[in-house]
Amino acid sequence: MLNTNCEYLCPEIMDVLRAFGREEEEFTHYFSYSGGKFFNTVEYRSQFYDFVDECDPADDVEFKRFSKRFSKLSFYKVLAPIYGSLPWGALTGIRPVKLARTERDAGRDFRELFKKLCVSAENTEMCGKILSVQSAREGGKSLYVSLPFCPTKCDYCSFITAPIDKTRQYLVSYVDCLCREINSVKPLCGGLKSVYIGGGTPFVLPYDLLGEVYAAVSGIMPEGTEYTVEAGRPDVFTEEKLALSLRYGVNRVCVNPQSFNDETLAAIGRKHTAAQTLKAYEMAEKYGFDINLDLIAGLADETPAQFTASLKRAISLSPANITVHTLSLKSGAKLKERLARLNVAGIEEMISTSRELLSAAYTSPSKS
Ligand code: SF4
Repeated sequence: MLNTNCEYLCPEIMDVLRAFGREEEEFTHYFSYSGGKFFNTVEYRSQFYDFVDECDPADDVEFKRFSKRFSKLSFYKVLAPIYGSLPWGALTGIRPVKLARTERDAGRDFRELFKKLCVSAENTEMCGKILSVQSAREGGKSLYVSLPFCPTKCDYCSFITAPIDKTRQYLVSYVDCLCREINSVKPLCGGLKSVYIGGGTPFVLPYDLLGEVYAAVSGIMPEGTEYTVEAGRPDVFTEEKLALSLRYGVNRVCVNPQSFNDETLAAIGRKHTAAQTLKAYEMAEKYGFDINLDLIAGLADETPAQFTASLKRAISLSPANITVHTLSLKSGAKLKERLARLNVAGIEEMISTSRELLSAAYTSPSKS
């Protein structure tokens, strides 16, 4: 249980507590700010820990960002010496490379910030590599199209998306508005470097509506542009939708197994099996798409050995990319509501296994 005098810091701090599997323990936190100094005091098991970080926020947005950052770091510094360091240090959230890029664009060396946040040398190096691969393609624009509909809602999901059975009545008007919006931004889309249709699970859309979205996007990008559809959960793949995608120029498809272990899939409310993933993969491969496979490390009750088996299964398929996420529960995730504990014990092992096996199987990080 966390008691803090600053409510908006609560979700951020809970992310750190969860990463250490300590969310059910008693913590008291006091935050204050004065004259460019952020003060955080943490009481844990009758011990008091004081931290002071200096930084001059330019505005309220920066103030909030720094206060979240330093409060998380304070908790990390209390817990890491007791329970061991984590590969991403006090960095929680889903896009470390975005943070690195923001630092670089502001003229700062992101490595210094990562060091302050206790990110491991290996992960800092990996972010540097991804940043330089992505930098080679910078300068253009990307278009992201969201289709926030899914077959059902997975228990760990915090994306803005809803089960299609509850939202079917909005589909036609959503796609209509979306297509009008795409048409209205077309004049701004010169020099696109990539287009990504995500969500949600785009392939849950009925064939005709998916075709309407593709038709609105068509003609927007030069030939050869990376054009991805996050087809998504294997249980919605069909030959017809893959053929439609190919016809409209899609050249990259995401198949999202998350795990190849059927027990894990059932435990997280995923409602499909590993066999369905393999079938979806085979179908997508037949059409010649570049395929990305998504896996998640740290899913409830999954052991490092089970995760490694999933990773090896994914590598054996030789997709163009494999993306390994670590589970991050935000508000809106059913698992968080149930206060289920993440499998954090083996997460470090899963990440280092991923780095080792993927570095051996792939020569460089993906551009995507
Ligand atoms: S995790 Fe993916 S498939 Fe599951 S509900 Fe969220 S967006 Fe949909």
